[in-house]
Amino acid sequence: MEKLLDNIIQTNRKYVEEGEVASYIPELKKGNKNDLGVYVTTLNGEEFRAGDYETRFTIQSISKVISLIIAIMDNGEDYVFSKVGVEHTADAFNSITNLETKNLHRPSNPMINAGAIAIVSLIKGREPDEVFERILNFTRKITGNDNININREAYISEKATGDRNRSLAYFMKSTGVITNDVEKVLDVYFKQCSMEVTCKDISRIGAFLANDGVIPLTGEKVIPRETARIVKAIMTTCGMYDASGEFAVNIGMPAKSGVGGGIMAVAPEKMGIGVVGPSLDKKGNSIAGIKVLADLSKELELSIF
Ligand code: GLU
Repeated sequence: MEKLLDNIIQTNRKYVEEGEVASYIPELKKGNKNDLGVYVTTLNGEEFRAGDYETRFTIQSISKVISLIIAIMDNGEDYVFSKVGVEHTADAFNSITNLETKNLHRPSNPMINAGAIAIVSLIKGREPDEVFERILNFTRKITGNDNININREAYISEKATGDRNRSLAYFMKSTGVITNDVEKVLDVYFKQCSMEVTCKDISRIGAFLANDGVIPLTGEKVIPRETARIVKAIMTTCGMYDASGEFAVNIGMPAKSGVGGGIMAVAPEKMGIGVVGPSLDKKGNSIAGIKVLADLSKELELSIF
C-alpha cells in the first residue's frame, strides 16, 4: 500500500505547478505550494502514508463537517435543515448572490460559507468560547489527537480580513436565519477554520465517517449511524464546492476540501483518506490532491457508484 501511495504522490507532484496557494486570507500565503502528502486510515486500524504527510495546515472548510455533526446532535436534523438547505450550488463557496436569490434567503447547504456560519449559530453553548471548546474537543476525540489547537496567526488573519463572511452573516441576521450575535458566531467560525491539523488527523475523521460514526481505533460510537449517513450524503453532493459533480464522476467518494490545501475523503466501510496540497485550483480545491484521490480511487476501486 505504501508503495502505491508513494507512486501516486510521485506521479502527481507536477500538478502543484498549475495551482496557487490561497492568498485572500493573508496568513495562508505562507503555505508551501510544493507540498503534497497523503495518509490512509483503514477501519481495522492500519495506517499508511506517503509524501509530505507531516505538513501542518489549517483545517478550514473541512471543519464544516464537524460543526454540522454537532449542530444535528444538538437540534435534530429537521430543525437544522429548516435553517440551511441541502442543495448543491453551482456558485462559489463564498457567493453573496446565491444567498440573496436562492432558497428564500436560506443558505443552499452547510458546506458553503453562508451555510456553515448559520450552522455554527445553531451549536449550543453559553458563550462563544464554550461553543468553540465543544468543536475543538469533538475534533480531538474523533482524531484521537489531543494536541490539536488553533493556529493563532491564521485565526487573527482571517478575523481581520473576513469581511465577505461578515457580509454573509449580517445578511442572514437580517433575514432571520441567524438569531444570535453575528460577531460572536463569526468568531467561532474563524476559530474552527483555524484548527491546525495534518493529513493523518483528517484521514481519521474520514475513517470515523467510513465506520458510520464509530471511532475505529477505540470502537466508541460517537454519533448515530443516521447522522453519519446524512453528513456523507451532503459531502458527496456539496463537499467539493462547485466542482462536486466532477469529483463524483471522477473519484466518487464523499469528501470535503479546505482552502488550507486539505481534502478529507471517505471510502465507506473501508478507509478514511487525508490529503494535503496547498496549491489550489480556481475553485479552491487542492489541485494535485484531487489527482492523488483520483488515482487512489481507480487503483483501489473506491468509488461508491
Ligand atoms: N475560512 C475560510 C473562509 O471562510 C474557509 C473557506 C474554505 O476552506 O473553503 O473563507
